[in-house]
Amino acid sequence: MPESLAQLVQTGLRVEVPFGKNKHYSGIVERLHRETPPYPVKPVLAVLDQISILSPKQLQLWDWIADYYCCTLGEVMQAAMPSHLKLSSETRLVFNEEYGDNFSALDAEEYLIAEGLLLRKEITVDDARLILNKKTIFPVVQRLLNHGVLLLREELQERFRPKMVSAVRLAAPYNEQPELLREVMEQLAKKERQLEILMAYLALSKRQPLVLKQELLQKADVTEASLKTLVKKEIFEIYAKPVSRLGGFEDAISDLDALSAQQTRALEEIRSAFAEKKPTLLFGVTGSGKTRVYIELIREVIQRGGQALYLLPEIALTGQITQRLQKAFGGGLAVYHSKIGTNERVEVWKAASGEGKLFLAARSGLFLPFRNLQLLIVDEEHDSSFKQYDPAPRYHARDTAVYLSQLHQAPVLLGTATPSIESWYNATTGKYALVEMPERFGGMEMPEIDTIDLKTQLKTRQMHGIFAAPLLDTLKETLARKEQAILFQNRRGFAPMLECQVCGWNAMCKNCDVSLTYHKGVNKLRCHYCGYQQDPLTACPACGSGKIGLKGFGTEKIEDEIKLFLPEARIGRMDLDTAGAKSTLAALLNDFEERRLDILVGTQMVTKGLDFDNVAVVGVLGADQLTKFPDFRAGERAFQLLTQVAGRAGRKHKRGRVLIQAFDHKHPVLLEVLSNDFRGFATRELRERRQFNYPPFQRLIHLSVRHKDPKITHAAAAFLGKALRRRLGDRVLGPVLPQIPRIRNYFAQDILLKLEKSVTLIPAAKQLIREQTEVLLGQQGWSQVQVVVDVDPM
Ligand code: ADP
Ligand code: ZN
Ligand code: ZN
Repeated sequence: MPESLAQLVQTGLRVEVPFGKNKHYSGIVERLHRETPPYPVKPVLAVLDQISILSPKQLQLWDWIADYYCCTLGEVMQAAMPSHLKLSSETRLVFNEEYGDNFSALDAEEYLIAEGLLLRKEITVDDARLILNKKTIFPVVQRLLNHGVLLLREELQERFRPKMVSAVRLAAPYNEQPELLREVMEQLAKKERQLEILMAYLALSKRQPLVLKQELLQKADVTEASLKTLVKKEIFEIYAKPVSRLGGFEDAISDLDALSAQQTRALEEIRSAFAEKKPTLLFGVTGSGKTRVYIELIREVIQRGGQALYLLPEIALTGQITQRLQKAFGGGLAVYHSKIGTNERVEVWKAASGEGKLFLAARSGLFLPFRNLQLLIVDEEHDSSFKQYDPAPRYHARDTAVYLSQLHQAPVLLGTATPSIESWYNATTGKYALVEMPERFGGMEMPEIDTIDLKTQLKTRQMHGIFAAPLLDTLKETLARKEQAILFQNRRGFAPMLECQVCGWNAMCKNCDVSLTYHKGVNKLRCHYCGYQQDPLTACPACGSGKIGLKGFGTEKIEDEIKLFLPEARIGRMDLDTAGAKSTLAALLNDFEERRLDILVGTQMVTKGLDFDNVAVVGVLGADQLTKFPDFRAGERAFQLLTQVAGRAGRKHKRGRVLIQAFDHKHPVLLEVLSNDFRGFATRELRERRQFNYPPFQRLIHLSVRHKDPKITHAAAAFLGKALRRRLGDRVLGPVLPQIPRIRNYFAQDILLKLEKSVTLIPAAKQLIREQTEVLLGQQGWSQVQVVVDVDPM
């Protein structure tokens, strides 16, 4: 740290640092110390921020994640920081057209870069360095970003437009010498409209730093033409100004509904659990009114001047909850997830360290720099998409939220209609508090659920394509009554496999060991892992037979078959293929809500917290895929999915009807779903987990060893397995070939660690994994081997 910067630097600031020969990156000051590092060091070049952008609590959270989930601090930083705050030599800068070409507010250095950009449209940070012929460039770039003159290329790729407004200010020399305006006024004595504008401007500018064009025209009650005249006379100038997308925290738009007796009781229990500083599990059946309870808790926190974080798993589906929260709290709600623009993300970031009060966020919301966090809500806590799978950090947002709540001494509430087995275990063994809401709001009955035995249906020839007669009949009646239905199938596409009926050959991806899925709409075979696609085949490449048929079915096929059997039905489909953009998803949900659609067909996306009034029937087409999936969480997932999707039926006015088609229609999980018996399910599940040493009784760490050469993968995995077994013995399982041995041309081998929950064993095992991975990578020819560590795999 050069002497000249030593005064400016503190922990949590960004600094510009050199890397390698010629590269610069922005880094974060983690710690100030006077120890001599055991390697040669280079000087810090510049300090980018005046005040810390990271609090000590954030750095503590980063440390915990890196340690718990076995990854590097850099990987955590990559996930935690908005890209706007990360700069490197290669960062591409583009000119923000909306800023316009009036650079009068810029200093000399800013001006040179802005001008260079105006000419070349896109430059790198390194190009900017050449323009100024200067070693340190990040501070200037950062100022230009703040002014809104530049955008990062990445932001444009997210197709984000910063919100710009037209503002009005006095032109030179009047901006510096307002006394000259008297003369102007005399000149304008006869131009009534222009005089109005001038007076209106003076009135507005006295009260506020920024005068918007629209606002000025409104106040003066004139048209834009008059203002243009004044601009021509060089009295005013119009300029573009980036503005915050977060409104002020206005009053609630509507009064809150009175609490039901059940909600009042639940709130009392939650408050006393909070007083005991226990994480609290709110187990409330679908439709019990959990959201109203959350709103009440948030309201109290905001009144005290605190901040609340509301985490949701699938942020694309926040439309409904956003509306409900806006009604309760007005426009000041900040929403934070990967689909919002980068600038907007920076604004939410600022709001968290400032005046922001309520943050509705996907898991990355955990990384916001909260000033005064007083409440965390994890809604749908059971949802496995709270776990980040790729890339590292592979963290679970629920568990991280529990840690964060301890850091802030703020209570955390986990809400769900189908608790995860882990949380249920914690709540029934006293580690968490348990609050229940067993009744639906307004005394609505739980839906009536039945299974349909597909074996009998097939034998008695009652199948209509993929629909059993009872389901098809029920759908017909539903449409006749002008009610709506949801059909659920946990698989997208048309048919999962193209198979030769003569020799059994099936179409596989050329990069991965998985079969391709047929998508009829585009008439392609697609890989759901790597995106590879090809045209469908007409003859078997193995035996030449023309008898190639489709096997199984996905959401697209269901849509097709409904058209066949219920030609007048209006159908919408909701899955990863149709819901790419946020806007199309919102439009689809809106159409369904406003009854322009009769049937919504979807994958698990339809199971997540949607609240529709008119859905009478829910159909599940193939439950066996859920109950038979070869994974220790299959039963838990099946129970959750089926209960959640069933909960979409009959929510407001009448009892809903749910039909589940299955070959194994007496599977214990199905029977427990039918009788809405979560406790029975959980007790049985916990017994099995204990017997086979699975979570929550033991901890799992999953290792995936990958390389392009299968021989190296094999040898490296064997090496690592042996090294781990030397210290951990039978706790190490494998290496084995994973279910999909090859993805994107990388061959994989899996190792699974099952560890007792001992406070010494688990950290020791993680340390061993780190050490042995280092040793492995140091072996001749193995430096390109990847070892992917997943702690608490889902
Ligand atoms: P959950 O999230 O537990 O599934 P919701 O919060 O969606 O349940 O509530 C179910 C329904 O009951 C919603 O339509 C909601 O508007 C309504 N509701 C819940 N609490 C109240 C209340 N106190 N007064 C009026 N309506 C309520
Ligand atoms: Zn593939
Ligand atoms: Zn064949």
